[in-house]
Amino acid sequence: MRCLRDLLQKAQQSGVAIGHFNISDLVLVKAVFAAARELSVPVLVGLSEGEREFVGTRQIAAFVRSLREEFDFPIFLNADHTHSLAKGIEAAKAGFDSIVFDLSALPIEENVRQTKQAVEALKAINPSMLVEGEIGDIGTGSEIHESSPDLSKGLSTPEEAKQFVESTRVDILAPAVGNMHGMLRSMVQGETKKRLDIERIAGIKQAARVFLTLHGGSGTDDEDLRKAIAAGINIVHINTELRVAWRHGLEHGLAKQPDEVVPYKILPSVVDSVKQVVGSRLKLFNGRHVGHGA
Ligand SMILES: [Zn+2]
Repeated sequence: MRCLRDLLQKAQQSGVAIGHFNISDLVLVKAVFAAARELSVPVLVGLSEGEREFVGTRQIAAFVRSLREEFDFPIFLNADHTHSLAKGIEAAKAGFDSIVFDLSALPIEENVRQTKQAVEALKAINPSMLVEGEIGDIGTGSEIHESSPDLSKGLSTPEEAKQFVESTRVDILAPAVGNMHGMLRSMVQGETKKRLDIERIAGIKQAARVFLTLHGGSGTDDEDLRKAIAAGINIVHINTELRVAWRHGLEHGLAKQPDEVVPYKILPSVVDSVKQVVGSRLKLFNGRHVGHGA
């Protein structure tokens, strides 16, 4: 089995990106794994601090490891949006493959200082763990927002990205390039799309020379995602689209069988609904044809 760093390198050479999907229950893991296996592409599952608290940090690590080993399949685990070193150490000890160490809400000097410390501390526990740092403002909350926050002042620059990477020695950088966490209601309805600053991505890639992650990918224009990957994005995060599909699938499953109480007879509707979204996004990130209605 190749490690995550090798797979990212391979994806970069092939001009494709690895899909990262947030999960907060085993139904979501099942859907993500099934979609990735069907397409034979590597995949990352991620859990924020809140998601880890619900599922269990060591428990999800054991579960994902068992899938990887039993099926000899490249499914990897990321500790998404981790705001303290203590939570990072917990994930490193549990065997997570990568971590998003997110102090982007702090002033940049403090973000640099603490991220550098975290890189050293986490690599001391697991030298092969990849550490991602965050700069700029892309908002918070992978949920449905009623109004759009003004993120224009928090966009990342190539100079800032280069300095941050050189000072902290992170393996992966998450810049603010027009992306945003969560979706507006109009995006859920498909009336509007997020647009990305492709030139900014290319400039940051050239200056920072590390793997780049695009957070808040839900609701982004397909063509912009393709161009962003061509410009240097290596990992794309999707969360809100899955949460919307999860809820729709559950409502559908319950409505279809109003008297059913057996979870494994109701929940396949959720798996199907989420799997469809994951499959469609994975096809796009991996340069496969995306069919209609996907
Ligand atoms: Zn994120």
